[in-house]
Amino acid sequence: MKLILLGAPGVGKGTQAQFVIEKYAIPQISTGDMLRESIKTGSALGKKVKEVMESGALVTDEIILDLVNARVRQPDCKKGFLFDGFPRTIPQAEALLKESIHVDHVIEIILQEDDIVARLAGRRVHVASGRIYHNLYNPPKVTDIDDVTGEPLIQRDDDKEGTIRVRMQVYRKQTEPLVSFYKAMSDSVQYSLKYTSVDGVGTAEEIRDRIFAALSD
Ligand code: AMP
Repeated sequence: MKLILLGAPGVGKGTQAQFVIEKYAIPQISTGDMLRESIKTGSALGKKVKEVMESGALVTDEIILDLVNARVRQPDCKKGFLFDGFPRTIPQAEALLKESIHVDHVIEIILQEDDIVARLAGRRVHVASGRIYHNLYNPPKVTDIDDVTGEPLIQRDDDKEGTIRVRMQVYRKQTEPLVSFYKAMSDSVQYSLKYTSVDGVGTAEEIRDRIFAALSD
């Protein structure tokens, strides 16, 4: 199973990715997580991308493609993988085709912009584990504290309201064209790719069940 989770920032891709990788026992390839990891370790790459990420803009295709090309060649990706937050531009999607990295299914999660802003502004993260909470929809047992370790939760810098609006604009301009790109591929007999749009309104479990139904069809 090779799939792409597509959708604007804040539609719940990270949360849904957890459900899917558990059920299908495949690794999650989140380019955002890989970049945040490189910032945490203070690597040369991390220094290069920190400011760009904090501004809400996209990191260059070249950097992203180097990361992804290396990752999909790891042995654990043989049985499949889930791309979360990648591809984010048409050139990234074209690079996948060029490298003969074919996906079976694209799942798009759809949500209105106001709902997205509310979701992102309430999101809290446990940095060490990547666990995601939400003040309203998925609160930790104690406000701003991780349930498992008792460590503090943080709000990502790029989840602050001003940056969220920038990220939405970036999504519409650079990533949304992928919707037509992949729909056209799924309509073409040349590719065996399936495209499903899923309504992102509801609880995490409701959305999960819609995605599972699409994948088992
Ligand atoms: P995410 O965690 O997927 O929301 O990504 C956070 C930030 O990392 C984005 O706002 C971009 O700056 C950068 N980023 C993550 N994935 C990509 C990608 N595929 N292409 C370009 N930039 C990316």
